Amino acid sequence: RQVGIAPIGLGSIAEVFMRALSKSRNAKLTGLVTGHPVEKGKKFAAMYGVADSSIYTYETFDNIRNNHDIDAVYVALPNSMHCEYTIRAAEAGKHVFCEKPMAISSNECKRMIDACRHAGVKLMIGYRLHHEPVFLKLHELVRSGALGEILQFQAGFYGMKNKQEWRLNRALAGGGSMFDLGVYALNTIRWFAGEEPVDFRTLVATRDKTGKFDSVEETVNCLLRFPSGILAECGSSYGQSGTNYFQINGTTGHVRVEPAFSYGDSILKYEGKTESGDLAGSGAVYDPDQFVTEVTHFANSILQNTEPATPGEEGMKDLLSIEEIYKAAGSLQA
Ligand code: NAD
Repeated sequence: RQVGIAPIGLGSIAEVFMRALSKSRNAKLTGLVTGHPVEKGKKFAAMYGVADSSIYTYETFDNIRNNHDIDAVYVALPNSMHCEYTIRAAEAGKHVFCEKPMAISSNECKRMIDACRHAGVKLMIGYRLHHEPVFLKLHELVRSGALGEILQFQAGFYGMKNKQEWRLNRALAGGGSMFDLGVYALNTIRWFAGEEPVDFRTLVATRDKTGKFDSVEETVNCLLRFPSGILAECGSSYGQSGTNYFQINGTTGHVRVEPAFSYGDSILKYEGKTESGDLAGSGAVYDPDQFVTEVTHFANSILQNTEPATPGEEGMKDLLSIEEIYKAAGSLQA
């Protein structure tokens, strides 16, 4: 059987997600939730064969409880709206696949986890790299000790292409580049470390003085220390014309992935050394590949009643770290 999914918020990532659903073997698009039911709702309904009666607005959203073609929702809204729509979906008895970052505070994450647990529905956060073959291979390599003991991670995600206004509004985004881009670096570091950071040092800077960054930071660099002694540098910036990368330094080996976090038509490349010799490889990330793998995993967790690889608890751990990172930064108007 195919799990029926309705995206909430038909913006840029929801469009990629709908393309992914059309390629998935165990999930399909069965509903649409949008503030523009005519312009966007009818357009995508016609494109993907969704019944007009399965188009909802934010006002009529709670009626999805009566729609048995919809098993789950995909929350693709501005970050500050993830909590409300996850809870309303859970209360309507629907499973939830929520985009990263999970919410704008750890308190919201807790409420989302509680609501989904109470309703007996799955909650998965959209960390697509946990399903990416290159990252899965490197994760296994690191965990097997092929690089010796890990001493340091470095990761960064830089660049601002077509960013929507809401991303520069703290009330809607939660913060600046850290929430949007830095979360990839942070999540990957935490995943590979297999433990939670305990010590945080942060500097933020906003060089653009045009007022664009009045409510969120432009650039943030932080240094994390983990209980085992691993150090990690994690950076992100909206202003920098940059790349995205992930570097792992062990006692007997090292690997660098670059690009690491972008999706669409890019090729992830990695290069380094292990105890047994040189290491190099690559993996194509064509649109919407990573999202197909991700949604297939989510649908499987519903069909087989298993825990998704990145449940709400994983999203909440990122928010707990992000809160510490901002606390360590002090003033954000540096
Ligand atoms: P977007 O601006 O393209 O889409 C947001 C949607 O929300 C739009 O359809 C908009 O109409 C709707 N919306 C409803 N209320 C709104 C309001 N008050 N203000 C602004 N928009 C409102 O954004 P996006 O790039 O699709 O991002 C959506 C979510 O997906 C974010 O949480 C983002 O972090 C996440 N995302 C994840 C990935 C990934 O690779 N996993 C990539 C991009 C975005």
